[in-house]
Amino acid sequence: MNIKYSISVLFCLVTMLFACDTAEQKEANASEKPAYSIAIHGGAGVILKENMSDELEAQYRSKLLEALSIGEKILADGGTCLDAVEQTIWVMENSPLFNAGKGAVFTHHGTNELDASIMNGSDLQAGAVAGVGDVKHPISLARKVMTDSDHVLLSGAGASEFAREVGLEIVDSSYFYTEKRWKSLQRALKKVNANKYGTVGCAAMDQYGNLAAGTSTGGMTNKKYNRIGDAPIIGAGTYASNKSCAISATGHGEFFIRYTVAREIAALMEYKQMSLQSAAEEVIIKRLKPIGGDGGIISVDKDGNIALVFNTPGMYRASVKAGEKPYVAIFNK
Ligand code: ASP
Repeated sequence: MNIKYSISVLFCLVTMLFACDTAEQKEANASEKPAYSIAIHGGAGVILKENMSDELEAQYRSKLLEALSIGEKILADGGTCLDAVEQTIWVMENSPLFNAGKGAVFTHHGTNELDASIMNGSDLQAGAVAGVGDVKHPISLARKVMTDSDHVLLSGAGASEFAREVGLEIVDSSYFYTEKRWKSLQRALKKVNANKYGTVGCAAMDQYGNLAAGTSTGGMTNKKYNRIGDAPIIGAGTYASNKSCAISATGHGEFFIRYTVAREIAALMEYKQMSLQSAAEEVIIKRLKPIGGDGGIISVDKDGNIALVFNTPGMYRASVKAGEKPYVAIFNK
């Protein structure tokens, strides 16, 4: 055997070894991608263990898990990420615990103005509503705007008119009355600041690899002048693209609008190849925290990874991937 022949045989063996490694590696990575993933939030803010009774904490945890399990079941049964997002948010919109739907906060004038949005990552379709006061499930209205109208964002009386046309459930304004939110408004009017924020949101990847995100909120307690936050602004409070991730945000909306938070995280992934976790930390911790932009995000990326990132003392949050146990948490530590 001459030396040239030996070298080329060695070369072939090494190449095959590497090829095997790469194929195996790829398989390992592919099998790491879960069949589906879902993450939810119920708002971020000054949520401290010492201010919360064990009973209330248990109520939050159990409602978060209930909402998550509805979405997980849809995904496990082969349903779409849009259905999972909408139905999961319904559970939180039905609960007085969260500032969305039933539990929406009051405006300065003692009314309720609800905002919501939804986005489909496979085709970048989106729908949103702002300032609606008589629709039981604003997230469903946002979805109808996406699927049954030529528009992305409808507001106020026009949004309610559209809700009637598409047959969604309309409620009397008294439906949104809860004593807890009324008292928060009274405290805010006296400038005794309570918990100002709250919002619910969901991001999901389904078994077809599609992503969707949705957000629903009553906005900020004591808001005036038909103020609209980030929740119904695509790219700020909600964003989804199959190229990167699906995101729902919560926090001080004005900051999230100016920093186009949800789209910025997706863009860092798309253009700078950052991981979801690093991109989210870059925006929420490094950019927003120093300027007082309180809040956080929940997100699922195109590989089913989950990030739950916030810069406040707490964020109601939960998540699960196919084949894993659900995670639920409230406080920072
Ligand atoms: N982002 C919402 C808003 O500014 C409030 C929140 O998420 O807590 O309206």
